[in-house]
Amino acid sequence: MQKDPGRFVRERFDQAIKNQDIKVYYQPEVRALTGRICGFEALARWIDPVEGMISPGAFIPELEAQGRIHELDLYMIRQVCAGQQRIERAGLTLTRTSVNLSRLDFEACDIFSEVEAIRQEYGRKIGYLNIEITESAFNRDDRALAEGMKKFREAGYQVWMDDFGSGYSSLNNLKDYTFDLLKIDMEFLRDFEEKPQSKVILAAIVNMAKQLGIHTLAEGVETQTQVAFLRDIGCEKLQGYYIGRPAPMDEDIMSGRKEAEDIEDATEDAYYGD
Ligand code: C2E
Ligand code: MG
Ligand code: MG
Ligand code: MG
Repeated sequence: MQKDPGRFVRERFDQAIKNQDIKVYYQPEVRALTGRICGFEALARWIDPVEGMISPGAFIPELEAQGRIHELDLYMIRQVCAGQQRIERAGLTLTRTSVNLSRLDFEACDIFSEVEAIRQEYGRKIGYLNIEITESAFNRDDRALAEGMKKFREAGYQVWMDDFGSGYSSLNNLKDYTFDLLKIDMEFLRDFEEKPQSKVILAAIVNMAKQLGIHTLAEGVETQTQVAFLRDIGCEKLQGYYIGRPAPMDEDIMSGRKEAEDIEDATEDAYYGD
């Protein structure tokens, strides 16, 4: 894989999809105040019979370069919908799942209609799928992206900006596009202890989002100190190794059965406004 990732992807991607060697790993997201699970993010893991686990950092750039990233993203959405259907059929309660879309998906196909077709095929409600788009996708004036995002939002999907703060045009994006939630890039938490600036920036992001009516989630949370600080500044949701690593589906966790209370509690949702 390392020697020629382009060739590896070219030669093996079709087979990997066909054999379902690409798995969905789910990482939990929790409410900062209660610690309750409020959703999951679906992350792709390519488990090759020979090479073993290949991380998205290795194959996603190749799929993008080869114009095939939308095939992965649609496959992931199908797997997520199928998983949700199984949970529901087992009589369990569902949680929301976020899927990552690439900017290129919006150019390669009518991604909104493709996602809708899969959602309907599996009888999923819109509220159980969120769309994450990484900030670096917004680096230029992009009509396909703007129009696609608008379709998702008008249909009732939540659209989240991933890795907020990592790109150079973050603040412009907030002016030009409408998001439901900012996933704050983990970089600010990395040097948190040594660099007081990071704390000021995190607090400012959360405060600004609040004034813009946008929800916030901090990703890459690894310590209790970070949890305490993020709670203090009013960040609403947390995700990271401290809370849970990405893992294959566990129906008890996915359904919230391991939680003390119903994670889809109506009053809690009303409180957080989603
Ligand atoms: P992302 O969407 O920002 O996902 C978060 C990444 O941070 C994941 O890496 C996750 O495993 C990792 N992470 C989570 N918590 C922690 C933590 O506490 N500490 C540290 N150090 N890392 C943490 P992963 O799974 O390797 O994915 C990397 C990126 O690849 C994702 O970043 C996303 O942009 C992309 N990606 C993953 N799956 C898909 C997919 O199905 N489609 C598309 N288009 N992109 C995907
Ligand atoms: Mg993401
Ligand atoms: Mg992210
Ligand atoms: Mg990231």
